[in-house]
Amino acid sequence: MIGGQMPIFILKEGTSREQGKNAQRSNIEAAKAIADAVRTTLGPKGMDKMLVDSIGDIIISNDGATILKEMDVDHPTAKMIVEVARSQDTAVGDGTTTAVVLAGEFLKQAEELLDQGVHPTVIANGYRLAVNEAKTQIQKIAKDARDDATLDKVARTALSGKNIGLSGESLYKLIVKAVNSVAEEHNGTFRVDASNIKIDKKSGGSGNETELIDGLVIDKEKVHAKMPSNVTDAKIALIDSALEIKKTEIEAKVQISDPTKIQDFLDQETETFKGMVSRIKKSGATVVLCQKGIDDIAQHYLAKEGIFAVRRVKKSDMEKLAKATGAKIVTNLDDLSKDVLGNAKNVEERKIGEDRMTFVTGCKNPKAVSILIRGGTEHVVSEIERALNDALRVVAITKEDGKILPGGGAVESELALRIREYANKVGGREQLAIEAFAKALEIIPRTLAENAGMDPINTLIQLKADHENGKKDSGINFTENKVTDMMKIGVFDPLKVKKHALESAVEVATMILRIDDVIASKKSGPSPGPEGGMGGMPGGMPPY
Ligand code: ADP
Ligand code: MG
Repeated sequence: MIGGQMPIFILKEGTSREQGKNAQRSNIEAAKAIADAVRTTLGPKGMDKMLVDSIGDIIISNDGATILKEMDVDHPTAKMIVEVARSQDTAVGDGTTTAVVLAGEFLKQAEELLDQGVHPTVIANGYRLAVNEAKTQIQKIAKDARDDATLDKVARTALSGKNIGLSGESLYKLIVKAVNSVAEEHNGTFRVDASNIKIDKKSGGSGNETELIDGLVIDKEKVHAKMPSNVTDAKIALIDSALEIKKTEIEAKVQISDPTKIQDFLDQETETFKGMVSRIKKSGATVVLCQKGIDDIAQHYLAKEGIFAVRRVKKSDMEKLAKATGAKIVTNLDDLSKDVLGNAKNVEERKIGEDRMTFVTGCKNPKAVSILIRGGTEHVVSEIERALNDALRVVAITKEDGKILPGGGAVESELALRIREYANKVGGREQLAIEAFAKALEIIPRTLAENAGMDPINTLIQLKADHENGKKDSGINFTENKVTDMMKIGVFDPLKVKKHALESAVEVATMILRIDDVIASKKSGPSPGPEGGMGGMPGGMPPY
């Protein structure tokens, strides 16, 4: 370039860049593709997906978060949508597919406005106004209820469509019972820490053998065969230090010149263990649950005293045991006394499938409980576990919040109606975006109908007519394949789940809309290429 200026490179070689409309469109396409991938799983009539990972393991699931977690998504915007599912799952445990499908639809509707020349910031503003209005309205639509019958229905709605087979019926009761037993009430408000419900699983056996234990199941057996297998009115010591003799950090050699001294030396060791066991015995403990190891000699003396002992109990289990039995965890055996021991009606070793497990039951204050999942195969117990985890969270949230919404697309239809009214009031350019938002909400009843093989257009027309006529709870009844009152048939979703799904879907959609420049650095190391997962997503963005 003679006399001209040299071009200025501000980006590293290999960096790719996409700007303006191109960037916007390929981002929207990527987001829509993710939403399309999970759409068919929405609702009780949704299909399952089989996911095969790189080493050939399979997962069959209907859960949006699980599916997206297993999919190897590469596109940066697609990853943002996957993140929505993940955050929905961690925050409320359900509604992941709803959130993703909504995000995709918000973007699809936005695309049409972009085509008409509406500026992305106007759309983003309109969406933000709309979601605020939606949050106000949804609060008004919500109903107060946290009784057991409601919780049962909430569990049913959350689990419908999950492939959990026969055990479903008893599972609902079990879920409600588990949540109620860990719920803590303070002046009419409830706190439910679902992490106090411990889930264990053992394959082999029937799903119907899945049981709730008013205490804890520890996946460990007693340390010594001569120990009793069953201790009633157990006095439990929780010890988080090892019942072993500490090894020195530095290597030490003890030289014994006189053969009789060897015996002395060994005797001394034995005495130490005897001392430990007698301190345990003196406290009145009949069960020892130890977070660390227990030496063979200590095991022998514990067995001799008729004390049931388990070693290497997980720290999280120790904490739950403390809660359930009222025991205090001690580190130093000198601190053992009657006061720090916990109580349980029964501590028992039982054979479950191939393994032996310890059951601590009949706890005074079972603020921690266990559910032991049984089922024919690993796949079955894993799918039950995933379903159970979701349902427990959802029921826990409902117990705390005490607010429910009609499901089956009812709340989305009602919101669409109210948001359209609101759009008229706002006027201006934003009105278009607010209307687009209302239209996007209808993707939920539409998809539910489609997945059930119902006519989506007729269903939407019926829903619209009902809601305009003040039937606020009208939604899709899958037993009869028609539009009916959801409160009457007991299809309830928790308010919090829907609210969170709406908020996060709008948040990600507006965030994506505002991006007009994607600058991607060259990936270091060998590129995995497009094979596997969503590498070949539309938009053709380089890996992030
Ligand atoms: P998500 O991952 O969003 O929870 P689901 O596949 O669990 O997706 O579907 C949830 C949707 O299905 C909700 O809108 C809920 O109201 C609806 N739904 C669930 N069970 C029923 C039912 N028995 N009748 C009608 N709608 C139902
Ligand atoms: Mg669900």
